[in-house]
Amino acid sequence: MNTRQLCMVIDLNKCLGCQTCTIACKTMWTRREGREYMYWNNVETQPGQGYPRGYADKGGGFDRDGGLRRGALPGEGDYGTPWDYDHEAAVMTGVDPWLRPDEKPVWGPNWDEDQGQGEYPNSYYFYLPRLCNHCSNPACLAACPRRAIYKRPEDGIVLVDQEQCRGYRYCVAACPYKKVYFNEATSRSEKCIFCFPRLAKDLPMACAQQCVGRARWVGYRDDADGPIRVLVEKYAVALPLHPEWGTEPNVFYVPPWAPPGFDADGRLSTGSRIPLEFLGSLFGDGVSRALKTLESERQKKAQSGRSELMDWLIAHRHAEMFKLG
Ligand code: SF4
Ligand code: SF4
Repeated sequence: MNTRQLCMVIDLNKCLGCQTCTIACKTMWTRREGREYMYWNNVETQPGQGYPRGYADKGGGFDRDGGLRRGALPGEGDYGTPWDYDHEAAVMTGVDPWLRPDEKPVWGPNWDEDQGQGEYPNSYYFYLPRLCNHCSNPACLAACPRRAIYKRPEDGIVLVDQEQCRGYRYCVAACPYKKVYFNEATSRSEKCIFCFPRLAKDLPMACAQQCVGRARWVGYRDDADGPIRVLVEKYAVALPLHPEWGTEPNVFYVPPWAPPGFDADGRLSTGSRIPLEFLGSLFGDGVSRALKTLESERQKKAQSGRSELMDWLIAHRHAEMFKLG
């Protein structure tokens, strides 16, 4: 049993899709053989297929009775094969930059970036950063017959013991977020480690530290004065992604607050441009209440200059976004 749980909150209203977090993670942890295709942290456009392609339809997690759902393994094409450019030829001569012209890629991470949905002028999209949720009820752990996956009692971080793992990939199929990756060079499964070696030095995760949008908070669930208690519990504006999958995620999202759409006569309508049903399909029933709270606190801040919630979300001082003790 874990005694403490480290969590992250990501504000989708502040994420600008710059991918700094993705690259911070990639250069720190997955720039090695067998990990070329891995993005422990990715930032996808929603609505969109995500990474790996169509992960939300591949199953896994738990059913309503708590039974483990095995799920399907993504195929190589769902991740997209890493490809090489001839940068010099592309820049200096304008010729086709693909080095393998007979194997032009048809899919890869962020292939549908910024496409979104809706007809102009009511088109919409937002960015959704995703990483392992270090779930309280991890399907990856439940699926592993080798007991190679474990949850650290001191902070709830979920890790794969590389000595125990035999690369069966049951964890990859069972994680409904598809945030475990198979390393073909080592025949082991790997995943986000919540930067535990950085935490040991009192540093937050690289993705959170490097986030230029100041969109990520890190803290313990039981810290009465920390960001998780304020954003997840007190104001309930931070919600888990797909709570219905039953893994009890510990990464939470402040849903995107959108401007109103336009009606057929070009006047502003009263409804949100991003359909509430779509947000509900991602973040569950609490999304409507969360958006109402965000709007009322935003108005309170505009009128009186005072709102505890808005001050937390603005994050005046970056260092105060991380409570690691
Ligand atoms: S997100 Fe997936 S890999 Fe991470 S702990 Fe949950 S079930 Fe396991
Ligand atoms: S670094 Fe921050 S703002 Fe940029 S994509 Fe990542 S979460 Fe979004």
